[in-house]
Amino acid sequence: SRVVERARFPQAKTLKSFDFDFQPSLNRQEVIGFQDLAFLEKHENLIFIGSPGVGKTHLAISIGLSACQQDQRTLFVNCHDLLLRLRSAYEKGTLERCISRYTRYDLLIIDEIGYLPIDHDEANLLFQLINARYERHSTIITSNTELSAWVNIFQNPTVTAAILDRLVHHAHIIKITGKSYRLKQQN
Ligand code: ADP
Ligand code: MG
Repeated sequence: SRVVERARFPQAKTLKSFDFDFQPSLNRQEVIGFQDLAFLEKHENLIFIGSPGVGKTHLAISIGLSACQQDQRTLFVNCHDLLLRLRSAYEKGTLERCISRYTRYDLLIIDEIGYLPIDHDEANLLFQLINARYERHSTIITSNTELSAWVNIFQNPTVTAAILDRLVHHAHIIKITGKSYRLKQQN
């Protein structure tokens, strides 16, 4: 559908193809429950934390797809790409318009926060976006870094606290502590 195309998912993933038995640290009922989009109605965020390969992006896409199927404007974006876009808008003097465009999505999925370091200017831009969406629309975050170590990503305690404060205030934090599915074959 148009809504799915506009969401720009990198792959098609659904919860049907997710093997919950492989990832026993996950609360299956909780994750399946997110498909009813009650979190979206309440403008709550979902934060998936876990090491590479545990299924964070798969789950984020699956829930995003459910949102699309229920006609919610959804966008999937890689964190690094998002920061490049915000930075370029800032340099062109169109930051306000850019942020308001990202703010309009009912669901924004920001994938891979923390894979690359984020400098101070980028952290401020990300804060402005998160703040604009705060209590207005839901955001799904995936990260390989525990929230307590996010200061290492942003390298600044003040902006880290400001971002976390907005993100975590109304959020479900889903920690995945199991093994990488990518390495499954090699066991
Ligand atoms: P992460 O984002 O946590 O690094 P991904 O979601 O990209 O991990 O998962 C890596 C690959 O393994 C993807 O192809 C994904 O579909 C698959 N995968 C991960 N966990 C599971 C699972 N429990 N059941 C089925 N496929 C999985
Ligand atoms: Mg991922």
